[in-house]
Amino acid sequence: ALMITLIFFWVLAILISYLLSRWSMRPIITAWRKQRDFSANAAHELRTPLTVIQNQLEYLLTQPKSRIVDQVDEVSTALDEVRHMQTLTNRLLTLARSDSNVTQFNPSQVDLHPWFTEVLRPYVEIANSQQKSFAANVTAEGKAQLDTDLIRQLLVILLDNAIKYTPENGRVGVDVTRVKDTVQIAVSDTGAGIADEDKQKVFDRFYRTDKSRNSKTGGNGLGLAIAQWVVKQHHGKLTIKDNQPTGAIFVAVLPVK
Ligand code: ADP
Repeated sequence: ALMITLIFFWVLAILISYLLSRWSMRPIITAWRKQRDFSANAAHELRTPLTVIQNQLEYLLTQPKSRIVDQVDEVSTALDEVRHMQTLTNRLLTLARSDSNVTQFNPSQVDLHPWFTEVLRPYVEIANSQQKSFAANVTAEGKAQLDTDLIRQLLVILLDNAIKYTPENGRVGVDVTRVKDTVQIAVSDTGAGIADEDKQKVFDRFYRTDKSRNSKTGGNGLGLAIAQWVVKQHHGKLTIKDNQPTGAIFVAVLPVK
């Protein structure tokens, strides 16, 4: 009987220590898995444009006698892919830095109305060149502490998406308002919008909805992960609402003193 009791407690001790170790190891294992997936996805995303560039250059090598002006298509395809890779590597770098503990938040005093008006100015042309309209409505006045580099990145990501995911003749808009102790940035479009089940997932790294994966919009699923990080650095919140009758509205609420 003593033997059985001893074995029983021995097995119990092993079981408890196993469960404890699994429980305490879980965050480490999850973080490690995330890191592994991140590297694998990053390598995968970089491979596609590299293959295109390689193909174009190899093709050009088979035509050594022709002049570069005769090869504009091949060169511009390669250049497009280089630009794509540039965006991708910049975004990967931003996310890698956001994972490290190095502080990246450099707020400065911003005069809201002139600053936002200036930053948003180029978007009329960008949207119009893609047959979409753009309207900025900046009513926020006064000064606030914001990290201008990060907010600029946030606007680029949200506005590029709004333009990208809106069909021709669609409308993209941005409202910058001051509501009590917050600055609110709302970017709206008249595209297909985002289904309820995707409203959280789109902030995950490399996540793209089926619709955009199947279309040729050429994204990589990193923009919104960065957008959310930028808003978090400001202790704010980034949410998605439905536009009426169709489209998405991304609302960043940034607390300011
Ligand atoms: P991507 O580079 O693919 O645009 P993001 O992280 O910026 O990556 O966005 C993730 C996904 O969220 C997109 O692939 C798209 O499916 C969806 N999405 C983002 N913005 C919009 C929008 N304005 N309208 C519809 N879908 C959007």
